Amino acid sequence: MDKGTRPLKAPADTRRIIRTLATQHPNADTELHYRTPFELLAATILSAQSTDERVNMVTPALFARFPDARALARATAKELEPMILSTGFFRQKAKSLMGMAQQLVDEHGGQVPADMEKLTALPGVGRKTANVVLGHALGVPGLPVDRHVLRVSNRIGIADGDDPEIVEEQLCAALPKAQWTLASDVQILHGRRICRPKPLCGECSVRKDCNYFRDVIAPATRRVRTPRS
Ligand code: SF4
Repeated sequence: MDKGTRPLKAPADTRRIIRTLATQHPNADTELHYRTPFELLAATILSAQSTDERVNMVTPALFARFPDARALARATAKELEPMILSTGFFRQKAKSLMGMAQQLVDEHGGQVPADMEKLTALPGVGRKTANVVLGHALGVPGLPVDRHVLRVSNRIGIADGDDPEIVEEQLCAALPKAQWTLASDVQILHGRRICRPKPLCGECSVRKDCNYFRDVIAPATRRVRTPRS
């Protein structure tokens, strides 16, 4: 994981940095298209190892055919697989979608539970997926940590570690609950647009707070600019 060598930022600094990132990305939100918690849950399962754009291309037809858990629980792999093929890992994802829908029908009256433990007990649903659904569709604060959040938070120095659950804990401890979902959304967008694997630091609003910029990028830039004697 790319990161600087300094200690974790103070909570007040983390809150300020997230506010600054939110100003740079004022419309940060999940880019998955959905109308109900069920649709967001299904779309998030499909987004694993895929892109939101790709998922948004398949979900209109999918949700027209299977609008809720009861309908999806009656689907067969033969019907479902061709509809989601282009998102990759389609056999496993079809199995997860059908299992998820069946469990919603059997155990939750066809509704998506607003509860981390119950969500992560569903097939194909990990902590990140559960947090996406809780935070965006169910009004329960959640801080999904994906590869973008891991990269951005470690580079800036508002988290430290490769384990998504530990990074989630560190960020949640520094931020009020009301900022959890926003903190994830802005870091995901920042990681996609600016703080890419090869970062565009010149366009970054939190450059002066970033450990990775201070410890790695700026010294490397100075070395390139300093002529050899
Ligand atoms: S300064 Fe560069 S490395 Fe740091 S957060 Fe911004 S884009 Fe990422």
